[in-house]
Amino acid sequence: MRDEFFKIKTYGCQMNEHDSEKIAGVLEEKGYQPTEELEQADVIILNTCCIREKAELKVFGKVGELKHLKRKNPDLIIGICGCMMQQEDVVAEIKEKYSHVDIVFGTHNIHQFEELLKEAQLKREPLVKVWDEGKELIPKMPVRREEDYRAYVTIIYGCDNFCTYCIVPHVRGRERSRPLADIVAEIKELATDGVKEVMLLGQNVNSYGQDFEQEVDFSQLLTEINQIEDLKRIRYMTSHPRDFNQKLIDTVSRLDKVCNQFHLPVQAGSNKILAEMNRGYTREEYIQLIEKIRAKNPNAAISTDVMVGFPGETEKDFADTLDLFKQVKFDMAYSFIYSQRSGTPAAEYKEQVAEEVKKERLQKLLDLQSEISREQNKSYLGQTVEVLIEGPSKKDKSKLSGRTRSNKIVICEGSDDLTGELINVKIKKVQSWTLFGEITD
Ligand code: SAM
Ligand code: SF4
Repeated sequence: MRDEFFKIKTYGCQMNEHDSEKIAGVLEEKGYQPTEELEQADVIILNTCCIREKAELKVFGKVGELKHLKRKNPDLIIGICGCMMQQEDVVAEIKEKYSHVDIVFGTHNIHQFEELLKEAQLKREPLVKVWDEGKELIPKMPVRREEDYRAYVTIIYGCDNFCTYCIVPHVRGRERSRPLADIVAEIKELATDGVKEVMLLGQNVNSYGQDFEQEVDFSQLLTEINQIEDLKRIRYMTSHPRDFNQKLIDTVSRLDKVCNQFHLPVQAGSNKILAEMNRGYTREEYIQLIEKIRAKNPNAAISTDVMVGFPGETEKDFADTLDLFKQVKFDMAYSFIYSQRSGTPAAEYKEQVAEEVKKERLQKLLDLQSEISREQNKSYLGQTVEVLIEGPSKKDKSKLSGRTRSNKIVICEGSDDLTGELINVKIKKVQSWTLFGEITD
């Protein structure tokens, strides 16, 4: 029998990357092998993102490009899934303009992928399976992990926060936590398989357990995971500043495996904009939270997400964001230009900011953060830090790249077989986004 191949192209966040690992797991169980060459693939899946317009445009461009492959190979199965497919108008457009697409499935239907694939191969007609809401937790699926030493583990699906700019609650549904025992069992299995670091995933991990009748919270979950033998590092993404209470600060500071990295998306520095965004905290409360974290954990690395050009953002509001950045001194920031998402309240706000102004503001913020990050990184000079080696550096394959517990990228010399190992590195040089050092052990 001829070998069969698949290619999955993933857009967007870690949630989508993890969903793609599950789709790949199903395909691998069915005997398919991964390929980087679209021409070689028998199954091509695009796992889409709709958080910003740019991400959506990229997907439409890619779907169009695939048409000639389907013409050359009519047996090719093309599937599209992910957040974009939870929007009715997008599915309608795909059905109307892209008849070469065989399968469309939503974020709540990922566990039905295997059936859909089988059906599409038999029937040769386009299939669409999109549920509006997650009817149940996604059943256990095989997972094909890219790395042996690191793994994603979903702890909570969906989001109930409804920030006024954000499409996520509309496409990922209401919050649904996974049972604690299931999560712990999965991580135990991963640790036995050699996984050293887990990334616990959720749009708002601090809400973990709030949908259960019995009292279980994120602190308790972390405490249980911390006891798993052979597991070395615990990360989580994303936590909402509004729900990051003193109990959680104490828990993450106390547990030795939880990394001293705090990713707390601030989104804006102006109280007026924060209220319009429905974030549920003021700039003063956010700054106070950072002070509490640093009081308990002076070496904590703090990162954030921020947006420029939210409707009605004046020069004064933007100056408040710059000022908050100067005051907090983040280690790192993911900065975005606000993108109008239809179906969200902010898309209807009248005072949309001009694209040129948004771009200028973004550049100013990027320049400021780059300077702050370089300054923050200077404290690492001469220090010896624990690094989990991820493999050859993308920029220079002759060097290794890895991450500290504080999530800083470290470049050092060493042999490829150190991939997946925890090693000590003495930092000799720092830049804004990277530390450079020498292995000491
Ligand atoms: N749940 C997380 C939170 O509350 O921060 C992150 C979700 S989202 C995938 C990641 C980031 O995308 C957000 O923190 C926000 O900065 C950005 N984002 C969300 N909606 C956006 C929009 N309409 N335009 C631009 N950026 C957006
Ligand atoms: Fe979107 Fe806000 Fe939910 Fe994050 S918390 S996913 S930004 S609605």
